[in-house]
Amino acid sequence: MPELLDAAVPPPSPTGPTDLAGLTPEELSALVVELGGKAFQGRQVFRWIHRKGVTDFSAMTDVPKSVRARLAEVAVISTPDIVRKDTSSDGTTKLLLRLGDGRQIEAVFIPDTPSQTFCISTQVGCAMKCGFCLTGTMGLTRHLTAGEIAGQVRVLAKELGFLDTPFNIVVMGMGEPLHNYDATMKALRMVGSEDGLHVSPRRVTLSTVGVVPGLEKLAQEAYMPNLAISLHATTEAQRDELVPINRKYSLAQLMAACRSFPLKKRSRITFEYVMLAGVNDTIEDARRLVRLLNGLKAKVNLLPLNEAAGIPYTRPSDDQVDAFAQVLANAHITVSVRKSRGRDIRAACGQLAVEKVAI
Ligand code: SAH
Repeated sequence: MPELLDAAVPPPSPTGPTDLAGLTPEELSALVVELGGKAFQGRQVFRWIHRKGVTDFSAMTDVPKSVRARLAEVAVISTPDIVRKDTSSDGTTKLLLRLGDGRQIEAVFIPDTPSQTFCISTQVGCAMKCGFCLTGTMGLTRHLTAGEIAGQVRVLAKELGFLDTPFNIVVMGMGEPLHNYDATMKALRMVGSEDGLHVSPRRVTLSTVGVVPGLEKLAQEAYMPNLAISLHATTEAQRDELVPINRKYSLAQLMAACRSFPLKKRSRITFEYVMLAGVNDTIEDARRLVRLLNGLKAKVNLLPLNEAAGIPYTRPSDDQVDAFAQVLANAHITVSVRKSRGRDIRAACGQLAVEKVAI
């Protein structure tokens, strides 16, 4: 089996000035103290960056000039550049973003779900190679830094006017978040910080293919997002085929990790299930899914395949999807069918992939 998780490529190691975009309020305070300022001034700088979307030191008017001057000498604040902004007929907006090293990623705004939702990426590409996902065909170029992950939220909020309006976040863009665990969780804590946009973890959903050690770590986190598991199959053999990481962390191990995952009151694990015509969409599959989820606080989100050139599967008929959903509903499992948003601009699930850029 290819060692999927060994393919990790770290972001370029920082050689130049410190990038404040990737620092927590505590780290920023420590830096400001080191530079001769006061701890609370570090928090003020964090607020300018993350709450107000301001990255120009000269605009941070409540921070003493001397502190700003020292920061400007030793640090930068990097922000992903917007290369392109596409808006779908349904209002979904996809931003193509360029990072400091020229690599590109995508971040998506999905309106009225009924909430306003940002979908963010955690890696350039992805190493997981799920058989139906376009991002998987790119392979993994590198992990994103915490600053780049939180930066997507900052850019979306500023660009789309959400600095003062609540929104949800789904970590469902390019990449496998638990394969880039530390940067992802640090970014979520930054976004959740009361000095930042103060996004409650209840508004955040992290979606994973099921990197079991990552799930075990996540279970210990103080900032605990909602959990979505990309299940997609109900037998080991079928999942080995569709989601290759299953050969390392089996369905049995994944379900055991889900069963012991600490859930808050009234919260449930979402199981995502991409539906592939003639592959995993039969009534027998639905019945096996019911048995697999027996006793779990679960809901199921069916994702009829978004077809793409180079993906060797097709989307089942609406009738087939409905019949599958009915089996779950009859077993009293909450089931929803994901309405595919932004398909016309290739912003829908599994359609995020950027052309290779020459750098
Ligand atoms: N790597 C994480 C985050 C990506 S979330 C994960 O796998 O959970 C994106 C969701 O879209 C996943 O459930 C993924 O399996 C699903 N998806 C991928 N390709 C798709 C496609 N072509 N059509 C519909 N859903 C797809």
